[in-house]
Order: sequence, then structure tokens, then C-alpha cells
Amino acid sequence: MTELTDRELAVIERGCAWIDDNADELVDLLAELVARPSLPGDEGVHDDEATTVGQLWSFLEESADALELDAQPISAEDDYREKTRENVYAVLPGDGDDGFVATSHTDVVPPGPTADWPDDDPWTMREGVVRRTDDCTVEVAVGDRVETRTIRDRMDRVWRLRGDSEVAALVGRGVYDNKAAIVCLVGSALGLDAALAGTDATLGGDVIHGHLVDEEYYQVGAKNMVGWGGGGDWLGDRYDGYDGWTAAVLEGSYGFVPVVGHRGLVWLTLRAEGESAHASTPDLGHNAVLGAAKALAETDTDAYRDAVAAPFVEDALLGELTVAPGTSIVGGGIERVDPETGSVERGGLNTIPDWCEATFDVRIPRWEGFPGSVDAVEDRLCETVVAHASAAAPDVDFSASIGEHDFFPPVALADDREAAADHPLVRTASWAAADTVGYDPGLDVAPGVTDAAFVYHGTHIPTLVEYGPAGALSHEPLEYVERDHVIAGAKAMLKLAVAEVGVTQRS
Ligand SMILES: [Zn+2]
Repeated sequence: MTELTDRELAVIERGCAWIDDNADELVDLLAELVARPSLPGDEGVHDDEATTVGQLWSFLEESADALELDAQPISAEDDYREKTRENVYAVLPGDGDDGFVATSHTDVVPPGPTADWPDDDPWTMREGVVRRTDDCTVEVAVGDRVETRTIRDRMDRVWRLRGDSEVAALVGRGVYDNKAAIVCLVGSALGLDAALAGTDATLGGDVIHGHLVDEEYYQVGAKNMVGWGGGGDWLGDRYDGYDGWTAAVLEGSYGFVPVVGHRGLVWLTLRAEGESAHASTPDLGHNAVLGAAKALAETDTDAYRDAVAAPFVEDALLGELTVAPGTSIVGGGIERVDPETGSVERGGLNTIPDWCEATFDVRIPRWEGFPGSVDAVEDRLCETVVAHASAAAPDVDFSASIGEHDFFPPVALADDREAAADHPLVRTASWAAADTVGYDPGLDVAPGVTDAAFVYHGTHIPTLVEYGPAGALSHEPLEYVERDHVIAGAKAMLKLAVAEVGVTQRS
């Protein structure tokens, strides 16, 4: 069990009291953040309160005492977006060399048709009620709108753990993924700041919160926090090393279940080059589309998967490598596809196609030598895919590539679930959850990648890939977060920070 000193317990008590006293303000902040649409590219800047980033900044600035704030503009050369956007950092400095890093992301995904939202408005946060009506089934009621929806088993688990059948919820685009997580961090930072102010207590290390842009697409914010890919290195510019540090990525999640790893994600592009000829004499050409088709047909076997999986280990925690070939494919006379209507403009219908490109989605466990040799892993994947394609269609030239932003490495805290449950960070996070929400959260592995991919690989700090409030329907209409979990999350993060870095007497 997590052992805390009287001084640490006193800080937690004062910090949680601050959070309770400011609970309404924190929920209001969540509404203000939801009201500022922050699609990737539009997260905003610290000095523009009309943006999510600006609103977050001004709320923190207003209440901060010892809390230090910094904004990091993502430089044009590190960003694929034109508009300037900024990561925001809030640091509570401590006396020792320990460190605890927690991150949230400020971007949200598009809302889809506005008619799918109450009053045609995804950007106004609304109070509602969610009832669990059956296994993995909830009824979301907002105003006079009531909809029955299916939720994933991972999200259903929190209902089973606590035995409730109804909770108060907050509904809106981004409320769960990921603005509730922002508010959990803000509440914990300000609560901790208030708890330490005017006392002789100080943290045993820095508590660092990063509110990062672009998690939903290419994780440009996380990359620029840790210097991945040669971009900005906010953390590395300030600290010499991360010995003994820990980290957690806050997400709309499963009710403070420590999530201990996720597989990596690779988007690989296979290009076939042939030779065009008049379609009436196909033998005179080399058909790139036919070659790519033969190459793709080859992928549908266990032997193929095993060949791609060869450099990777049997990963008891993260599971098996999977290959989804042909997630997109284009070639020959395709000139344009209208994204709105799906209509296709073609040319050269009487020509043997001389090019074809298909993408593969490959989910990867850890490899021999993990976490090193990332470049070698990428090269090996490309070589294997090209070798099999060339064998299937020898008259076509194949090449494979992985774009700069198309590789997200896997993250894992331990070899298997048993060892993960015993990891000190997991034990502390479980305690912080149980102490706050009253149930033992267990642990889980995430289905998709999070900012942990780069927070971990840029620093090698042991990282929880997800930890955060309960809710559901991220990326769907009627996305919701449980109201109580917004406040509980602030408290759990405060406890976790205190337990991780400790509290000592100011020197
Ligand atoms: Zn998301």
C-alpha cells in the first residue's frame, strides 16, 4: 500500500479541500473549454482567450501562486499546420531531483453533423443523465433527447465495479476526449499550489503538466515536448535527466484504471511502379494495379503475418502484431476523388496502369532491443513488405515507406500483466483511484496509441499510457464524461503527484 507521511497527508487534505471549494468553477472551466472548438490546428495560443489554449492559460494564471506557466509555440518547420498553436506547461517546482509528468491534449475531433447533437450544437456543454440499461448499453438523456448507445466493454467495467445504474453526465464535443482531462490537471495543479502556499512544505521534485496540441492526428505537441524527430524539446531544455521520474497521460478513460501499455502503430505505404501500354495490348505493359493486387492477396495468410512479425517479441502484455493491408488504395487513371460526394474523376481508361499505392495499418508489440533501434524496425518492416510483394508480382517494381508522422512506437510498463500490477507507479495510481472513487480499478492495456508513444520514447520515463475519468462515446455524437469524475480526477491526480514526488520541509 502507498505509505504517506503526515506532512503529505496534510497537503492532500488541503489540496482536496481547495478542489471541493472550487468544484463549480472547474466544471464552468470545462464548459468554457468545450465552447472553444479546438480541431487540430485550431487549439490556439496563450494570449487569445477566444481559444482553448488561451482560456486554459488565463484560468491557470488567475489562481496560480508558485505555479509557473510557459507556452511553447510549435515552430513552422515542426508543424504541418499553418496557424500557430502552442503547448502550455504548468510546473510546480520542488526541492529535489524527482519529477512527475502528466499530460493532456487540447485538440478535439470534428463533431460530425450538428443535427446529431442536442439543439444542433456540439459546442455547448450540457448536463444530462446516463443510465446503464444492459451490458455495454447506456441510455443518454440530455434535455428531451434520449438515445440508447453501445459502449465498449472497457467503459462498461466501471459500472460493474461500483454497481451504479445512473450517473450525472456532461455532454459535448471534446468534453470527454480530452477536455475533462485538462480540467483534472488544472484542478490538481491549483489545489496543490494552494495547499503548499504559506506553509513550510515543499514538493520533493517538480510536478510538470503539459497540455499538448494535435494528439488526435500526429502528436506534434508530444513530439515537441520531448524532442522526438529533432523538433522542439521543452522538457530536455530544462532537465538534465529523468532518473526516478514517472509520467501519466491523462485521457477520457475507464474511471482511473491505470492503463499500462499500448501496441505501436505504423502506417506503411506500398508503391508499385509498372509500365503503361495501350490497354488493347496488355502484354506490352507491366500492370502496377494488378501487381499490387497480387501483392495484397499474398498478405492474407498466417505465413505473411509471421514474416512481418519476425523481428518482434512474443509480447504477453501488448498482444500480437496485426496487419491490415489495403486500408487505402489508389492507382492508374485516378485523377481526383471528391471528398464530399465520393465521385471519382478518371482518365486513361484504355491504358495499362503504371502506378498503384496501397497503405497498410500495422499494429506492433515490442521488438528485440526495445526501446532502441526504432529506425531499424521501420527499415525491416519496409523490406519484408517489399520482398513479399516482389515475389508475388516480379514484373512490377515495389517500394515501401513510412512517412515522418506515420510511426507511433509501442509503450509498456512491464513484461506482463502480473508484473505491471506490481509496478510502483501502477500501485500508486491504483491507490489514488481507490482512495478517491472507492473501487479497486485493476489495470488495462489500451486499444489505440496515445501521446505516451512519444512522451515515453522521447524520455524513457515509465509512463501510464492512459489514466482518467469515466465516460464514453469519444469521437461520436453525445460524447459524455461523468460529472463527478471531473472533480474526482483532480483529486486523484493531486494524490498521485504527492505520492510520486513526496513532500518535504522547505530547506
Ligand atoms: Zn480522441
